[in-house]
Amino acid sequence: MRIDFTVGSFLERAALVQPAGVACVDESGVVGSLGTLTYADLLARAQGLARSLADRGIAEGDRVAIISPNAAKFLICFFGVSGAGRILVPINYRLSEEDIAYILEHSGSRLVLVDPDQAHLVPSRPDLEVVVLDGNDDAALFAPLGERSPVLWEANEDATCSINYTSGTTARPKGVQLTHRNCWTNATTFGWHVGISDRDVLLHTLPMFHANGWGMPYAATAMAARHIVLRKIDGEDILERIEREGVTVLCCAPAVVAAMLDALTARRTAGLGFTPRSAVRVVVAGAPPPSKTIERVETELGFEFIQIYGLTETSPLLTVNRATAEMAALPAAERAKLLARAGVPAVGVEIAVDDQGEVLARANHVFASYWNQPDATSEALGGGWFHTGDGGYLDGPYTVITDRKKDVIITGGENVSSIEVEDCLFSHEAVAEVAVIGIPDEQWGEMVTALVVLRPGATATEDDLIAYCREHLAHFKAPKRVVLRDELARTATGKLQKYKLRAEFWAGHDRSIN
Ligand code: AMP
Repeated sequence: MRIDFTVGSFLERAALVQPAGVACVDESGVVGSLGTLTYADLLARAQGLARSLADRGIAEGDRVAIISPNAAKFLICFFGVSGAGRILVPINYRLSEEDIAYILEHSGSRLVLVDPDQAHLVPSRPDLEVVVLDGNDDAALFAPLGERSPVLWEANEDATCSINYTSGTTARPKGVQLTHRNCWTNATTFGWHVGISDRDVLLHTLPMFHANGWGMPYAATAMAARHIVLRKIDGEDILERIEREGVTVLCCAPAVVAAMLDALTARRTAGLGFTPRSAVRVVVAGAPPPSKTIERVETELGFEFIQIYGLTETSPLLTVNRATAEMAALPAAERAKLLARAGVPAVGVEIAVDDQGEVLARANHVFASYWNQPDATSEALGGGWFHTGDGGYLDGPYTVITDRKKDVIITGGENVSSIEVEDCLFSHEAVAEVAVIGIPDEQWGEMVTALVVLRPGATATEDDLIAYCREHLAHFKAPKRVVLRDELARTATGKLQKYKLRAEFWAGHDRSIN
């Protein structure tokens, strides 16, 4: 027997087995908040959304975009849009107006759902319907199904579930087409490795737009765990919710872990404490966290630290590093060093490192293709392996990521294409040459930094150039530092030698990513 995998089945199961169980606690005090929803409510609203979309003429395979911080409605879209054979396009709400216009156009989105705070970023186009998630404009879309008939979609696991745009080696983001099969196998494998059950309470410290919250919203829903929506990252708020809501799982970038540890320090300074909670697992990815951070998470917060490694293109779970029984018996500092490696292949994943030191992967959850970019797809999937663009080596079964072959900077957990920032700076009249690199930074992991040679006679300052980028790019992509130089290291053929330019900033680091 073969039954096609579909993410819609996750919610259907949860609503069948735990209809009265709390599915989701939405952010309170926010316009359009849905409050507390049971699994029966979540399914009724997802089915209602699917029905309303179909009634508005959004057909199977049509794209529906969402631009929003985390919200219960985002969670509903994972099932009400994708679960009914429509394609969800989650867009990073911190992108610039121009990026958002590009993604909406490139994905051919017919409808965009937008948080009131981002509504001004959406272009007005006759072929694009816009619904603001303010509790009024969207009231009919998110109403429970009620007496209406559900939309019947004949599940096809190879159908596209979502298109997740990610910054990479090109100036423009690429649309990663994830199928239901990709999302299903990632979610079940991820849920297995983290041991998700109906007793779990997931705090959404990861943006839902980022690789569909890495697939954890699917995994947690499948097991009828409880979702706690978090709209904005604030270390103290996270600690407080962990205590108040009995959180047991969170996924985040190292920058969020740093925010929690800072909040803990602030509590101590104020004479307050935090009772270590061993029931909490924190799953971290995006960059290799410093082993001191891992040690503090385990000894001071009491959480279990799990590192994973992957990319949007791999749905994303490739490797996982969760302490084995032997590691658990070691002193915390020693264990932390071992946990700083990316990890061993997740179930169903094969990892290899080619002779150039690039990490390659194969898995059922490696993406289908880049949306409308066949050349980029064949390049990424050449030779039957997915080329991650990450440099690393194997330490026994453990993958260690040491550098990046692709020109991407990861800052605060989000990708920034160096080329895009360079393009922006080149458009400034004072700039003759520019190289954008990431340099190690305590808060951001890597800090976007521009090395610039000015045109003869030009007088632009570092601050002028930063302000210019902030005007033209999403703020998180703008350099936080600009260094003016007389020349930039180049090869004989005139190609920038970025590794040389980076070297002085990375001296003393044993790897060139942070
Ligand atoms: P994204 O597609 O935005 O999720 O970014 C994926 C990239 O993040 C990877 O190609 C790596 O460069 C980086 N990354 C993710 N997880 C890790 C990790 N555990 N260690 C090192 N780099 C990571």
